[in-house]
Amino acid sequence: MALRLTGSHILQPEDPERDEHPDTSSSEDEEDDEDLNWDDWVSDSLAKRPCKSLFENRTFDTVQEALLYDETTHGFNFKTISERLGLDPYKRIRLINWIRKEHPSSSEVAALTGTEPFFTSDEYLKPSLEDDPLLQIEPDDWSDSDEEEELEKPEPPKDLASATRRIQALQRKLEQAKKDLAYYRQFVSERLNLADLTNELKKADEASSSTHVAVPLRDDDSHYFQSYAENDIHSVMINDKVRTASYAKFILSNQEAFKDAVVMDVGCGTGILSLFAAKAGAKRVFSIDASDIAEKAKQIVKANELDNVITVIRGKVEDIKLPEGYDKVDIIVSEWMGYALLYESMLDSVLHARDRFLRPGGIMAPSQTQMMFALCEAGELFKERIGFWSDVYGFDLSAMATDVYDDAVVDVVGPETVVSEPVVIKDLYLGDITPKQLDFSSPFKLVSTSDRRIKVHSFVLYFDTYFTSTGEPIPPEADVYIVKEGDPVLAEVWPLGGRPYQARRMSSGSPLKGKGLPKITSFSTGPASVPTHWKQTIFFLREPISVAGGTVVEGIFKCKKSSENSRELDVEIHYTVKDPEDTSTPDVFVQLYKVR
Ligand code: SAH
Repeated sequence: MALRLTGSHILQPEDPERDEHPDTSSSEDEEDDEDLNWDDWVSDSLAKRPCKSLFENRTFDTVQEALLYDETTHGFNFKTISERLGLDPYKRIRLINWIRKEHPSSSEVAALTGTEPFFTSDEYLKPSLEDDPLLQIEPDDWSDSDEEEELEKPEPPKDLASATRRIQALQRKLEQAKKDLAYYRQFVSERLNLADLTNELKKADEASSSTHVAVPLRDDDSHYFQSYAENDIHSVMINDKVRTASYAKFILSNQEAFKDAVVMDVGCGTGILSLFAAKAGAKRVFSIDASDIAEKAKQIVKANELDNVITVIRGKVEDIKLPEGYDKVDIIVSEWMGYALLYESMLDSVLHARDRFLRPGGIMAPSQTQMMFALCEAGELFKERIGFWSDVYGFDLSAMATDVYDDAVVDVVGPETVVSEPVVIKDLYLGDITPKQLDFSSPFKLVSTSDRRIKVHSFVLYFDTYFTSTGEPIPPEADVYIVKEGDPVLAEVWPLGGRPYQARRMSSGSPLKGKGLPKITSFSTGPASVPTHWKQTIFFLREPISVAGGTVVEGIFKCKKSSENSRELDVEIHYTVKDPEDTSTPDVFVQLYKVR
């Protein structure tokens, strides 16, 4: 979110120490006065900037004039409405931006209840008007209260009564500043989950009384949601038949679960999964998306005459409210998986939705994903991405290849390149996994299956996805379904010529022996499957490994959200290589990668 918080008391709080020592020395008193004057100066200089009316295309010389005009001509008093609706600093910012962007009439503004979706939408944290002085003044600047007069008096108080009033006013102001700061901290850590940034803010607090330097807020969302506003990305996803057909297959062949269910589609995009859910008999579907694509989803739902079942709600799932009468849902369906499974960090949002909206015993779809890890010979890809640079028109451009070792490479490798049995390096059961567990460190042991000595250039990572009809975990013996070219699953769900789907023609989920077990639908993004848009994630090795049959590559795979961008991943792979007959102590290799 492009949050511009310039309210001086939010980013430049008073030193909390002062509150604990009311008997301050005279020099500290002077400092207080200096701070006060500085703040007053900020408010004053802002208030004196040209300012546009909230309701008309007229600009006034000062904020006060603009406010006075809006009050006398349109009956709009910001302080009154803020108090009536109990608006916190962020809601006040959203209100101004909403008025500026949507141009409601003053009577529409007067009729607001405080529960309108824009009060919780990040979209309206972005200034609608560049450098809007109304966003930069404090709420108390909107009116001429006695208290403000008390604070604005630059000269020392003349008698005890006015000194007491002034101290009380300052204390109230300090309390408000502390509350705002606490709110702000909570807001930042909830939205961005950034322990680092909170620490930065703490440091900034400590420095603030002397420097008044504001810490810019980081925004990992705007670009992310913008990228989902594009048509192309949705076209790629929908055309990924392994992906879309598997979702369709699960939803449409589990009508017993979907019939009359209340479903939430987290990150609905075009609304495709919601449409499947409605077709499967859902009573009500709430389709949530924070990107502009939500507007397209609304049109799509209407065009398919499903607006009596599907309600598209635009906003981050973390912020939205369900309509009156709805509290919990029976099923959460979401396609949240990113490259290397966790790139994008959308799973955090889905888990948030689970904790807030899924009824006890409800179904998460998918219900489980597993990150798979294997040795990958990757000779061809190595030549293409790295070897290629060493001879370009007879010149050595190898310097271009070095980054390849720092960043994971997303590309397709064939099944023949995999030279060990894959192992599960992270098993994510959506029923109970927590966001904290998404930063992890897992040991692995890969045994070469090569029948001759070869050079292994990389590790490969991919994921398998499972949907169980009950939302329960898969039994250990369950095998992932590998989609092959020409597989009926691709044709059954989306037959050539776009004929409507008929549930009875569907094959059931992947076979599971025994009765009473949940029906399972699954797909793999591994090299053995028809390639998906996720491809595979390749970690090239600076030192290729020499392996023969039985060589053991053992180590630890660490994965965590990047501290620079919470949607990116930092991966660390520590490993040793040991041939079966070798008795020496092997060297430990460590390589760091970014998935970005
Ligand atoms: N369900 C669609 C789109 C999947 S892509 C399909 O299967 O084709 C993921 C979508 O989730 C994107 O459109 C993105 O904007 C949305 N999204 C990601 N995080 C979100 C969040 N926290 N709140 C709401 N929408 C989110």
